[in-house]
Amino acid sequence: MIHLSSDTGDLFEQSYHFAQKQVRKLVEKHAGFYPLYTQNGKWTHEGPDWTHWCDGFLPGMMWIFYKHSPPDTPEANYWLEHAVRYTTPLEPRKHDHDVHDHGFLFLSSYYRWWRLTGDPAHRDVLIEAGKTLAQRFKEKGQYLRSFVADNSLFIDIMMNIGIVFFAARETGDRRLRDIWENAEPMAFNRRRTVEDLWGYCRTCYYAETCLAGCTWTAHALMGRAGNNPMCHHRALDFDARGLRERLVKVKDAEGRSFDHGEFEIIVEAAVGEAAMADG
Ligand code: SF4
Repeated sequence: MIHLSSDTGDLFEQSYHFAQKQVRKLVEKHAGFYPLYTQNGKWTHEGPDWTHWCDGFLPGMMWIFYKHSPPDTPEANYWLEHAVRYTTPLEPRKHDHDVHDHGFLFLSSYYRWWRLTGDPAHRDVLIEAGKTLAQRFKEKGQYLRSFVADNSLFIDIMMNIGIVFFAARETGDRRLRDIWENAEPMAFNRRRTVEDLWGYCRTCYYAETCLAGCTWTAHALMGRAGNNPMCHHRALDFDARGLRERLVKVKDAEGRSFDHGEFEIIVEAAVGEAAMADG
C-alpha cells in the first residue's frame, strides 16, 4: 500500500484510489479496449485512432496498482492478471515503424513487467523496441526523426528515448549508446546545469531542480533555453510583489523550418491602469 503522511499525501491517496476505481470500471465495461481520448465524455467513439501511441499507459497503471497492492490479496491478483492481459498484446508493436512512441508503449508496460520478473523474454521485447526506435536516428545531423522524414525531429516526445538507452545498456551496442551519450541534439537537455540558467530563473529557489522548465518554450520565446517566463511559480512571485511580466515581440521569425521570433520581458506594475486594461 502507498502511505503518505502530509496533507498532499491525503490528496494523493484519494486520487490514487479514484484512478483504480476508474480503471476497474473501464476494463469491466470495455474489456480489451485501450483508451486514447474522450469525445463528449465517452472513451469509445468514431474519432481517429492516430497511432495508438497511448496503449502502454493503461497496463502501466495496472502494474503500478499491482506493485502497491498488499501482496497475495485478491486486489493484487486482479491487477497482476489485468496488467499481463493488457501488456502481452503490445509485443508486436516492438517492430512498429509507424510510431515514435516505443518508450511510452514499452517502458510503461514491459519494463515494469521485466523489473518484477527479470524474465529475459521481457527484456528482449524492450531491446527490440529500442532498436526499432533507434532506426529513426539520422547520422547526418545526429538527431532522431519524429516521422520518417528528414525534416521532422523529436521535440515533445523526448521521453521515449530512454528505451534506446535501455537497448544500448543491455546489449552493449556502441552505436546505440552513441545516440544517447554523444549525439549533441540528444544530450542538449540532459547536460544543462544551473550555470546555464539566466534571468529570473538563475536566481529562482527551484533553479537546481527545475533547470528553467520547458526548453522549447524558453527557446522559442527568448532565443535560448535557461529562462522561462511561462512559469506559475514565477508569476505568483511577481504578483506577490505587485509586479508582472509582459512579453513584447522584438524580432519576427524568418520563415525557416524550426524558426522562431524573439521576445523581450518587460517587468511592470501589476496594479492600477495596466492591470485594469488587461482585465
Ligand atoms: S521555470 Fe519557474 S520554477 Fe523553474 S527555474 Fe524558472 S522561475 Fe523557477
